[in-house]
Amino acid sequence: MIASNNIARTISLPVIDNHAAGQDEIPMTPNEIAAALTGRPYLSFSQVSTFQACPLKWYFTYVLKAPPESVHAGMLLGSVIHAAIQAHTESQLVEQPVALDGMMEIAYLTWDREAAKAPVQYSSGDTAESLAATARQMLETWLESPDSRVQGQIVSVEDLIYAPVAADLPDLAIKMDRMHLEEDLTGKSLIITDYKTARSMWKVNTAQEHAEQLMLYGFACTDIAEQLEARLKLQFVILTKAKTPKVEAIEITPSVPRMHRSIQVVRQVFHAMQNLIVYPVPSQMNCCTCPHQRRCDRWSPENGFE
Ligand code: SF4
Repeated sequence: MIASNNIARTISLPVIDNHAAGQDEIPMTPNEIAAALTGRPYLSFSQVSTFQACPLKWYFTYVLKAPPESVHAGMLLGSVIHAAIQAHTESQLVEQPVALDGMMEIAYLTWDREAAKAPVQYSSGDTAESLAATARQMLETWLESPDSRVQGQIVSVEDLIYAPVAADLPDLAIKMDRMHLEEDLTGKSLIITDYKTARSMWKVNTAQEHAEQLMLYGFACTDIAEQLEARLKLQFVILTKAKTPKVEAIEITPSVPRMHRSIQVVRQVFHAMQNLIVYPVPSQMNCCTCPHQRRCDRWSPENGFE
């Protein structure tokens, strides 16, 4: 439970202490604890991974709900690619696939919406125009790839599900980019796809390092797969931002022990969140896209924001 430690005092957070409840009082449920912390009665994978990368960034984003000081153009590019692919996949449901120009319209709308939130921070050599050209090349390459033509039945596109993964944890909010059903001579497969944009093509090791996300998604969807009498398949589809973009699917084998390990990691992270164990983890990878860099400079564990 949240301890009244130095950090909790300096950042004036709500103190959640089930142990302090009187004997007649009903302890808070995990969803209620999550809501008291962040205003959301659930945990999302994005919260968990943000906390793992930098607990202070999680605190700024989800507890303080601090507005971004800037938006990194590379993150924006990832958002526009996701939105354009989502529009194309949804349009397949009504058998009227959106063409490249329609996808670019979605991309521009998404860019404008996200860029209105804070000044855009560009990496050296990038401009809005150069990134629009990159997005067009990436989407063109994706449209030519087998991934753009789903063989089988699309079950969901970017649907949010709240999975009760363990009695002592809040529901896990999961937004899968795409879930679809395929059938061949060996039977049915329920395929969960997560899209990633990257500078260069992931190696298998890189995919394994990110596998925790898909293991949690797989854990949350095990019942759905059983109901559909389908085996579960998990995959990342990587789109590179290189001059000549590439698209490649990398499959991650579902593993029950790894799924349970991932739940255990979430449990530890949630425990640390409740105790407000927040601290900065400065690194090139974490900080260059962080929307709280100036806020972070002003923060100290003793004094909060002096
Ligand atoms: S600037 Fe870096 S260390 Fe500071 S909150 Fe952001 S990611 Fe964490």
